[in-house]
Amino acid sequence: MDANRSVKSIAIIGGGASALFFAAAIDPDKFDVTIYEKNKTLGRKFLVAGDGGFNLTHSESIETMIERYTPSLFLKESLTHFDNTSLRNLLSEIGIETFIGSSKRVYPEKGIKPIEVLNAILDRIKNKGVEIKFEQTWTGWSEDKLSFNDSDEVNADIVVYALGGASWKVTGSNGLWISYFKQKNIGIVPFQASNCAFEVKWSQDFLNKNEGLPLKNIEITSANKSQRGEVVITSYGLEGNAIYALSPEIRKQLSNTDTAEIFIDLKPSLLITEIKNRLSSSSKNRTTTLSKEIKLSKVQVSLLKSFLTKEEYMDDEILSRRIKQFPVTISGLSEIDEAISTFGGVDLSEVSSSYELKNMHNHYCIGEMLNWDAPTGGYLIQACYSMGAFVAELLNEESTTLKE
Ligand SMILES: Cc1cc2nc3c(=O)[nH]c(=O)nc-3n(C[C@H](O)[C@H](O)[C@H](O)COP(=O)(O)OP(=O)(O)OC[C@H]3O[C@@H](n4cnc5c(N)ncnc54)[C@H](O)[C@@H]3O)c2cc1C
Repeated sequence: MDANRSVKSIAIIGGGASALFFAAAIDPDKFDVTIYEKNKTLGRKFLVAGDGGFNLTHSESIETMIERYTPSLFLKESLTHFDNTSLRNLLSEIGIETFIGSSKRVYPEKGIKPIEVLNAILDRIKNKGVEIKFEQTWTGWSEDKLSFNDSDEVNADIVVYALGGASWKVTGSNGLWISYFKQKNIGIVPFQASNCAFEVKWSQDFLNKNEGLPLKNIEITSANKSQRGEVVITSYGLEGNAIYALSPEIRKQLSNTDTAEIFIDLKPSLLITEIKNRLSSSSKNRTTTLSKEIKLSKVQVSLLKSFLTKEEYMDDEILSRRIKQFPVTISGLSEIDEAISTFGGVDLSEVSSSYELKNMHNHYCIGEMLNWDAPTGGYLIQACYSMGAFVAELLNEESTTLKE
């Protein structure tokens, strides 16, 4: 390094998706950057997210994407600044081509493994001269310095906290950092599971027939929000994209009462009148009519049979209403550690629009450690990239302005 160069130092704490995209966007001529990570490797949750198809982002227009976040406006500036197209362009620059799947989600081209995506990003960061220190667990502050492993002290001009949420602890994101933030009187919202399994008290007989089977092409409504997709019936309850997206609404109902009511539309492509007409005009028996004329799957028919009385099942009016609006009672959320993501963390009122802690100048928080929520489908991870790139580019710009 040039001995006469006067650059500020940046400590990034945590080495997940948001940290990697911050490091990839920061200007190495303006800052000396070090990542401090408690694990022996970076991006473990990024790789876990790659299991079973590496959903890198979503291809929707950024305006539609912004509406998927809770609260939506909080992330608007960073998502607009570094959107899903910026991500695909950056990945292409580093040799990772992507494609849009039938679900409109974005994946690496066939044959590219998650580890290759991670390595391409790491190469970019290393080529920029970013230093990476492993097995460095941040353990709070010692006066103005950062403490690692309860003993080492580090001074940095700028600190970027990218410590993650509190699920899948095996990846390193254990949420223990909240106690240090509380000591500094930084407001913390307790973690809750999001994009998780939802508890339904199925009967044993229903489970014996249907456990592990999917309900496809359905639409679920909770409060006034609806989501199309699919769910899988499990011994615990329901999981899958159609219910994950309703996590905020279900959580809210559960916090007010002990249970939450959701409604499943088993046939979103047909109007209730069309279903009723097909039921009343069919000469076939009821179960055959449901599968052949209304095209319900075996598990959908089983759901109706198991939860309706014989009289209700045979009544065209009641049955058509139930097909369009099948009520299910949710009685709880899965363990936080099993959830795909967490809600909670640093209270949003603690940070400025550039994610800087209001009471700690030059200390920024990015990624899942802040109290926002989004469904799976690439939205979670896109927000992490966007926050990282946004803060890095603000710092690049500020530093240029200061020099002029
Ligand atoms: C099973 C699974 C599937 C997923 N699928 C999707 C999907 O399809 N689409 C989508 O958008 N998102 C998905 N996600 C979510 C997405 O992976 C996360 O939201 C994202 O990785 C969070 O990034 P982050 O940088 O905020 O935190 P993380 O990636 O969690 O990184 C935080 C880092 O900080 C380190 N750390 C924590 N405490 C300390 C400390 N005290 N000192 C030093 N280092 C510390 C951790 O070891 C970790 O490396 C999935 C997640 C899981 C678990």
